[in-house]
Amino acid sequence: MQLRYSYRLYPTPGQRSTLARAFGCARVVFNDALAAREAAYKAGEPYIPDAALSKRLTVSKRTPERAWLAEVSSVVLQQALADLNQAYRNFFDSVSGKRKGPKVALPRFRSRKAHRQAIRFTANARFKVLASGKLRLPRIGDVPVRWSRDLPSQPSSVTVIRDSAGRYFASFVIQTGPVTVPGSGPVTGIDLGLTHFAVLSDGRKIASPQFLRRAGKKLRRAQRSLSRKQKGSQNRDKARVKVARAHARVADARREFHHQLSTALIRDSQAVAVEDLAVTGLARTRMARSVHDAGWSAFVAMLEYKSRLYGRRFHRIGRFTPTSQTCCLCEVKDGPKPLHVRAWRCQGCGAWLDRDINAAVNVAKAAGLAVTVCGAQVRPGLALAPRGEAGTHPKSPWK
Ligand SMILES: [Zn+2]
Repeated sequence: MQLRYSYRLYPTPGQRSTLARAFGCARVVFNDALAAREAAYKAGEPYIPDAALSKRLTVSKRTPERAWLAEVSSVVLQQALADLNQAYRNFFDSVSGKRKGPKVALPRFRSRKAHRQAIRFTANARFKVLASGKLRLPRIGDVPVRWSRDLPSQPSSVTVIRDSAGRYFASFVIQTGPVTVPGSGPVTGIDLGLTHFAVLSDGRKIASPQFLRRAGKKLRRAQRSLSRKQKGSQNRDKARVKVARAHARVADARREFHHQLSTALIRDSQAVAVEDLAVTGLARTRMARSVHDAGWSAFVAMLEYKSRLYGRRFHRIGRFTPTSQTCCLCEVKDGPKPLHVRAWRCQGCGAWLDRDINAAVNVAKAAGLAVTVCGAQVRPGLALAPRGEAGTHPKSPWK
């Protein structure tokens, strides 16, 4: 399987301008190829195959209008074509139903004004991590890197990104086999919710990261300031970068939280089950902000790939399984309960059930996992503790 490892890059001013040129060349190659395919389509001609696009590129580099493309590593240009081909494949697979999920649109022209720019070098471009710790990029130079963690093996490609906050990153792809860590841990059902970020079938509740909300406040202040600036002014440009920086900080903090929690969960469990949430549906309601803060789908994706990496079982259960209507102890179904009911006494066996823990156990059961249910029963007083208790431990993912 493939894993991505990202690091900050600190290119020199000279390297920044060669990078800017490379971003521009990749964009032109992408747009030229897209225009050729669109023109063929409009003229009723057949779809231009990938190999033909590649040949066209070689020819156009010999013309005076496109001669400057030769200043950039040819791998970067070929990878821009590969991006376009992949975008078309995703579109065709989406139309034919081969690809599930939301519909994919046709590729669009890349804008010079886009705030995120990227180029990719594959192994045959001979990029190299030098003994000095710098990253050697062909036709760019030796770029300083901040190695926040070790690269576990030889990367197969590197994408160089300039984000909207003006920061540079190297994102390496590493091929790795599953790491087999003995999985003798328990089976864990996970209920993702709004009162807590996640509740586990063993009774642990993980608070929603409140530090994200604080960072969000800063972000909103920056956005308000941006909206007051005059269009086209220099101050507006500065304010835009500030907003982008605030966005980047929120995204970084969220990703870090997701990484810590998903690693801990996968390492400690032999199998995990989560509910497949209708996040897009929820996001349209007024709960939108807290749903986006929670970032469930990114978190579930991490759980999934880390399960494969560590050789754990991963289950996603359908979102229409009524996890809060059934007692996880005796399986008596006593109907839906309004959201404010956090705990209730089961009509069948008389147990006091915590809504979220009950749901987490039911998620595991729906996935066909044998889960210990001792955590689900609670003393009434405990279950009715004030809601404000969540989020008192912003640093630790465990509550
Ligand atoms: Zn019961």
